[in-house]
Amino acid sequence: MKTIFEKSTGVCGVELGDDYSDVCALENVIPKSLLREGSIGLPQLSELEVMRHYKELSDRNFCIEKGFYPLGSCTMKYNPKVNEFLASLEGFSNLHPLQADEDSQGALELMYNLQEKLQYITGMDAVTLQPAAGAHGELTGMMVIKKYFEDKGELNRTKVIIPDSAHGTNPASAKMCGFDIVEVKSNERGQVDVEVLKTLLDDSVAAIMMTNPNTLGIFEEQVLEISDLMHKNGSLLYYDGANFNAIMGWTNPALMGFDVVHLNLHKTFATPHGGGGPGAGPVGVVAKLKEYLPVPIIEKNKDGKYIRNYNLPKSIGKVRSFYGNFGVLVRAYAYILMMGTNLKLASADAVLNANYIKEKLKGAYDLPYDEPCMHEFVLSGEKQHHQGVSTLGIAKRLMDSNYHPPTVYFPLIVHEAIMIEPTESESKEVLDGFIETMLKIAKEIEENPAEVLKSPRTTPIKKVDETLAARQPNLVYKD
Ligand SMILES: *Cc1c(COP(=O)(O)O)cnc(C)c1O
Repeated sequence: MKTIFEKSTGVCGVELGDDYSDVCALENVIPKSLLREGSIGLPQLSELEVMRHYKELSDRNFCIEKGFYPLGSCTMKYNPKVNEFLASLEGFSNLHPLQADEDSQGALELMYNLQEKLQYITGMDAVTLQPAAGAHGELTGMMVIKKYFEDKGELNRTKVIIPDSAHGTNPASAKMCGFDIVEVKSNERGQVDVEVLKTLLDDSVAAIMMTNPNTLGIFEEQVLEISDLMHKNGSLLYYDGANFNAIMGWTNPALMGFDVVHLNLHKTFATPHGGGGPGAGPVGVVAKLKEYLPVPIIEKNKDGKYIRNYNLPKSIGKVRSFYGNFGVLVRAYAYILMMGTNLKLASADAVLNANYIKEKLKGAYDLPYDEPCMHEFVLSGEKQHHQGVSTLGIAKRLMDSNYHPPTVYFPLIVHEAIMIEPTESESKEVLDGFIETMLKIAKEIEENPAEVLKSPRTTPIKKVDETLAARQPNLVYKD
């Protein structure tokens, strides 16, 4: 496919009119020495040609609207279109972020109500909506934890414990806050090894960051014992809520003993997020940490008016401009209201779907942790690797059948990992189709691995020579 520059025909798509010359009289305001001499080099096409160009690009993109997207840990569920309609309502989309409180009561009310709903869902005492992603929520939460210990004068608490199955953003966020990372090993059942954890505890430990269910899709059964141990040690517990889709309404991080939680609204609460954003990573905390949250917190006055409260003297400050990604907040709020107590059903279906696929595939592929899973599970392509096709080859072969590949090579503690998360949105027919394709691929690898290695065959870019790409990288685009 050509770039839009290569498609340029010299046709002028826009008539700028007579006023244009005035606007362009830049030499009147900018010194001549700073002005561009040549043409700016913008592509020139008609409006229709521009539209076709972007449609062609869009058609190459894989999205949930095009097919099954079992990308583990990412919760690629259906995002109801009514959310888009609501987020684009003029009263929301045209509101200026600096508009006075009395002029933006609707938006403030929505944020206030969303804070309340998320408090209820997580069991936390206060919520900030400001962080723009899960990782950003982690950073915010760790800053809160750091400030809490500074405030208490416990400057000795410099370490954060993180399980070896954790998402890479966890150690990165803690490190960015200046903490030292201590890894805790998982046991043979894929859970935090409590005996090992005990040996790591002393008064230098500020917190543990946990994901539950963890990235293996396994529920940490000893979480209550762990929270007890941590609290007795004077440490706090951080809950990475990226896997919240597994537990909505069944339990919550407060019941498990966590002090700080982030949610990924774009995952669990249905905002399109395949292309990398925008997202929202609200952070909830227990009462004793509330005063450290970023400002402003949206509050309700005694007279029923909603206000932005900037008066938190111990706040970590702002972590993002204005109030976070407001459009994502609208979508999440709409989704929560629409679902109501069915959120609980969504989690149940997500867990059922994952267990269904796991049971059907576990003979053909290795299943390193053969346990009931939550909303996702991790296979290993080790057997197939020995037969000549690695996990990467399996992922590419799936693309030929219009499936987005699962997450691969993560979590790091599983060799040739294939991490599958179907979500609640898919029908049994879709799941069966995927299972059949996975079984077919396993058989193909047994019988004729060389053929499988020729995939992908249906994508705009076919198999690339990775060795050549690494040895002779060609980093400049040429026609
Ligand atoms: C997605 C994810 C994150 C990071 O969230 P972003 O919104 O992508 O920044 C952190 N932890 C886990 C377990 C995740 O799956």
